[in-house]
Amino acid sequence: MIATTGTSTTHTVQFGSAEIAFTLAVTDRRSLKITVGPDRQVMVEAPVAKSLDDVLTRVLRRGAWIIRQLEYFRRFQPLPTPRRYVSGETHLYLGRQYRLKLIPDEGREEVKLIRGYFQVLLHDATDHARAERLLTRWFDTHGRAIITDRLVKCHAELQRYGVPAPTSVTFRRMEKRWGSCTKAGGVLFNTELAHVPVPCIDYVVAHELCHLKHPNHSPAFYALLSQVMPDWRRRKERLETAVL
Ligand SMILES: [Zn+2]
Repeated sequence: MIATTGTSTTHTVQFGSAEIAFTLAVTDRRSLKITVGPDRQVMVEAPVAKSLDDVLTRVLRRGAWIIRQLEYFRRFQPLPTPRRYVSGETHLYLGRQYRLKLIPDEGREEVKLIRGYFQVLLHDATDHARAERLLTRWFDTHGRAIITDRLVKCHAELQRYGVPAPTSVTFRRMEKRWGSCTKAGGVLFNTELAHVPVPCIDYVVAHELCHLKHPNHSPAFYALLSQVMPDWRRRKERLETAVL
């Protein structure tokens, strides 16, 4: 389980090399229903009596169909539109869409992720520039935390292949690059990675860490990357087609 949103919960299951994220709503239906929306959200409606194990089994059984639907709808994803930071607008966090809600509040100005919403508490709810700054700061903070966490896990794995620990870790917002490394053995990551699914973040992290042993795109580099992450191509493609 990754999060709880009101009466529905969100879950992920591993289907082959793909991760299927879905929202589960418990209803008074008599049978289980799985739908994939044009927004690429997977929705599962289940009768009260169904156990989570039953639901996961059913989702996995329909896995191939779900992936096909997701691929199909991906072709219709609109190009990224300029963000306006108004209520109702959706923003991606770890590959999932959350709606924005600007809420006037006299107290501390902050962003909270609650019940599937980015609640932006601010003194003046019509100050969209302020909302943008608050949300950008939230993504920077969460991006750093997530990337750091994945970096520690990934390096623990790569250590066995003789990959040294990075001499420095830097975070920055960048337009064109997800990550890079320095001659001195440091790594640099784009905090915008907070918008993409975790398997894609792991791909960027693994890629940069492999460079600490092979500072080029030589066959030895790809051999190492394929060894630690056999499905890296799929993750790379998913990252490249991600709409932020
Ligand atoms: Zn590279």
